[in-house]
Amino acid sequence: MAEQIDCNLLVAKALTLAGVTHMFGVVGIPVTSLATCSVASGVRFIAFHNEQSAGYAASAFGYLTSRPAVLLTVSGPGAVHGLAGLSNASANAWPLVMISGSCNQFDAGRGDFQELDQIAAVKPFVKFSVKVKDIREIPSSVFGVVDLAGSGRPGGCYLDIPADVLHQSLPESEANRLLNEAESNRKLETVKNVTNDEIAKAISVIRKAERPLIVFGKGAGLARAEDEIKMLVERTGIPFLPTPMGKGLLPDTHELAATAARSLAIGKCDVAVVIGARLNWLLHFGEPPKWSKDVKFVIIDIDEGEIELRKPYVGLVGDVKRVVNVLNKEIKDDPFCLGRSHPWIEAITSKVKENVSRMEAQLAKDVVPFNFLTPMRIIRDAIIGLGSPAPILVSEGANTMDVCRSVLVQTEPRTRLDAGTWGTMGVGLGYCIAVAVASPDRLVVAVEGDSGFGFSAMEVETLVRYQLPVVVIVFNNGGVYGADRRNPEDITGPYKDDPAPTSFVPGAAYHLLIEAFGGKGYLVGTPDELKSALTESFSARKPAVINVTIDPFAGAESGRMQHKN
Ligand code: ADP
Repeated sequence: MAEQIDCNLLVAKALTLAGVTHMFGVVGIPVTSLATCSVASGVRFIAFHNEQSAGYAASAFGYLTSRPAVLLTVSGPGAVHGLAGLSNASANAWPLVMISGSCNQFDAGRGDFQELDQIAAVKPFVKFSVKVKDIREIPSSVFGVVDLAGSGRPGGCYLDIPADVLHQSLPESEANRLLNEAESNRKLETVKNVTNDEIAKAISVIRKAERPLIVFGKGAGLARAEDEIKMLVERTGIPFLPTPMGKGLLPDTHELAATAARSLAIGKCDVAVVIGARLNWLLHFGEPPKWSKDVKFVIIDIDEGEIELRKPYVGLVGDVKRVVNVLNKEIKDDPFCLGRSHPWIEAITSKVKENVSRMEAQLAKDVVPFNFLTPMRIIRDAIIGLGSPAPILVSEGANTMDVCRSVLVQTEPRTRLDAGTWGTMGVGLGYCIAVAVASPDRLVVAVEGDSGFGFSAMEVETLVRYQLPVVVIVFNNGGVYGADRRNPEDITGPYKDDPAPTSFVPGAAYHLLIEAFGGKGYLVGTPDELKSALTESFSARKPAVINVTIDPFAGAESGRMQHKN
């Protein structure tokens, strides 16, 4: 009889042929063999405690490498947990392929083990989904999900493999024929080409601008367009503003960085070139009162729908790297540069100086019990002390993430991951693991609120199991916003003696959690204790948790969000 190949191995072969190198997930019925076959085929499998964290990890891996990783889940509840990662990937426009096992096709509809219509469940969160009904459909379906997740505007794709299909096999010769066929029929999402007229219109409005601004976001990071954007900024002398995850594409220390003068820059600019960033809530929808009502937007985005939605003065559809390259060539042929004495540059520069010195005065104080600023300054200085390559920073939490964004300095591309477009809390540990796996030469530093950390704290075991160089710094203020801040007269009713909805156990010993698995924990409450823990853990490059005691009455809801709560 001809050599047979089993479905698990066929999926693994198709994945490697399609370029998948990493899988994140939780094994169980019916996908355990799929995980082991993938490892045997050369795919690295990182095993988690919860599909939610595995999904966040897979999405971050996609962002950092610009290629989709796979999130592998079991059927039913596993797939439901995986939706967190799938939806987070699509919300952030990051590539991700989720593969779930599902119940036997012939038992569907009569209450099979972990039965769920998973195709219906993933629908709002995917660019494309497919359920294979027979082993012969595996190669083309695997290439389909991988290619669509990573092309056009990246996002989540889903592949559903019923248990009975996973148990099928077919002759190896036929499998190879199907794999070859699928590989030669690969289809990437097509992207419209920008026209010469659109480029000319963009150049003309940029050239005529009196107060131009370049804004870039994580789409530019995904496109790895830092060199092209640097050239655009430096050729034109236009100041720039990164979005929270765009930070580092050009160094925060660059003389044209307008980050510390954000309100002035967006409030007064007359032309804004927005590169790989959406004019969503993070950029105040591009509308007054934060932006001037007359501002003209030039938007560069791979997604035509984004241009249709925002209706900018000029929309340039295409890959950021390619489009900015075309702009740079046009500008080189007829150069212009604002120069340091241009009134707009002077206004931005002097506002940056004023705001930075005000912030530095605050940061210079050693406040104990810790507020948010004192430990953040100490962390900033310790990170700067490490030089290059800079550690990759992961950050989440309300105050912690906001203060972290303003105080820490990013000098290298794709070195800052945070709660992102969706403001997703609980991404921290998953992101740390993905970062450490994607960039093994880098230290990973997470700066997390205690609430954000708590969502996925058990994954500290995963850090220890894989011995990843991740230092998690928990800002422990004992609750979602800290201490119980309710007015005493509002605390009434039969459950008035319960802890406040915002509270956790005061003084929780998060540092001991990692010690349960053999990692290193530190409890710190003073500048000297924090400095010493950072020095030791940064040089050890081993999994560690630093539990930083923060005054439970320090801080409040993030400025941008206060009106929503
Ligand atoms: P940020 O949160 O940093 O503002 P967003 O996630 O809102 O960034 O926006 C990223 C944008 O980048 C999305 O609209 C996406 O379509 C776009 N994008 C992703 N990859 C590319 C690429 N290679 N070229 C151009 N645009 C891209």
